Amino acid sequence: MTATRVPGIPVVEDGVLISTNPASGAEAGRVPVADAEAVNETVRRAAEAARWWQALGYDGRRERLLRWRSLIVRRVEELAELTSLETGKPNADAIVEATAAVEHVDWAARNARRVLGPRKMRTRLLLAEHSGHVEYQPYGVVGVIGPWNYPIVTPVGPISGALAAGNAVVFKPSEYTPIVGQWLVDTFAEVVPEQPVLQAVHGLGEVGAALCRSGVGKMSFTGSTTTAKKVLAACAENLVPAVIEAGGKDALIVDADADIAAAAEAAVWGSMTNAGQTCIGIERVYAVAPIYDAFVDAVVEKAGQLRTGEEIGPITMPRQIDIIREHIDDALAKGGQAVLGGAGAVQPPYVSPTVLVDVPADSSEIRDETFGPTLTITKVADANEAVRQANDTPYGLGGAVFGKKNALRIARRLRSGMVAVNSTLTFVGMGNLPFGGVGESGFGRIHGEDGLREFARAKSITVRR
Ligand code: NAP
Repeated sequence: MTATRVPGIPVVEDGVLISTNPASGAEAGRVPVADAEAVNETVRRAAEAARWWQALGYDGRRERLLRWRSLIVRRVEELAELTSLETGKPNADAIVEATAAVEHVDWAARNARRVLGPRKMRTRLLLAEHSGHVEYQPYGVVGVIGPWNYPIVTPVGPISGALAAGNAVVFKPSEYTPIVGQWLVDTFAEVVPEQPVLQAVHGLGEVGAALCRSGVGKMSFTGSTTTAKKVLAACAENLVPAVIEAGGKDALIVDADADIAAAAEAAVWGSMTNAGQTCIGIERVYAVAPIYDAFVDAVVEKAGQLRTGEEIGPITMPRQIDIIREHIDDALAKGGQAVLGGAGAVQPPYVSPTVLVDVPADSSEIRDETFGPTLTITKVADANEAVRQANDTPYGLGGAVFGKKNALRIARRLRSGMVAVNSTLTFVGMGNLPFGGVGESGFGRIHGEDGLREFARAKSITVRR
């Protein structure tokens, strides 16, 4: 049976998932669709592979992971081309994304032994005749569900952490980007041909939940907050622990002593890169009154130079366009002003850069994740007011502060898992920094030492001498 094809909307035909470019409708590729039984069988095979992978030890796994890293680097242009085809994002953005992913593979591979190797603990006086140590043991099989907006770096972070810790991984890529997901799995199989240590399961509607119920030892989910709650409900049935990386509504604060040009550049980059489809994208700016006008002018000038269809690619997921349009309309209806773009900016599958001011705090542009190239700028009296409004959200993923004297103090007061001072989005590219949020943005961490420990259980052993 042939379903009607709409550019960017994945379809299943005869048990095969077909993904297409959101602008041209060109086919990106096809993968077989799994059902719950196939997911269970994949996890069973992964459990056997996990024993072999674990027996390789830290050095053996490090060597294979570093070979995977090198293979991705060698074939980065092929990966970037595929990512641009499947998501619509500009090729240069796909290269940057792949580069960040490579950093995570590299860091996890090189640091797993140091972070997860047995650790001797100091003997306490009370138990002087005992020695004790901690060992970190892998879960066995880790399930990873990834999103479509950064289909390389978002899954590669938890996948490389889980693999370096000694687990096998079953990966469910987004139905919007199955081909990039399959590419990652296929290249890994080139450096680890012996056992299915990293496998993909594809589907549209039931595979994610089946994976949570399949007997995996741990889940890593990156996606929307709404789906995160469903993932947790499915995991709760068998007390499967999960690390959750969910949505965001990140704020950037511009203090009175900020470098205005640098702050404007960061606000534009943070909000418009990947056409705003970035979990840690800047969606709100709070600028203090003395620099507000100059800052708005600088943002409008900078964002106005971006060319839709070139630096600003199409919106990958067609139904997101309706959400972006609703948010802009709601902001304007409630008294907000468009100083760039606005209602006419939405020309599916594209949305042109839109900058809004005087948007009331109850507007969806301020409250809900927009996930498009839009930015609100709100004038505040001082940094205290900026922090109060920035924290007035259920989300808490990332954020940014521009300023000199008080910037670090302000950063500490932001209720979020990550903050960049005088830059933006930078924490995603550093393999040694933990990545994750608070509140409705999730819990648990990927990347860095905390990210590695997320994929291993601490086991305490005491020995009486
Ligand atoms: P999504 O729609 O929430 O998630 C889709 C995935 O979840 C699919 O693979 C789907 O598989 C699976 N799924 C659906 N229902 C499920 C259930 N009941 N149990 C288990 N799995 C289930 O997310 P998305 O649209 O791909 O991603 C966009 C969101 O990701 C944005 O909100 C963005 O902020 C967030 N994000 C967060 C981060 C971060 O690090 N915090 C990074 C990137 C993106 P099936 O179709 O098989 O059900």
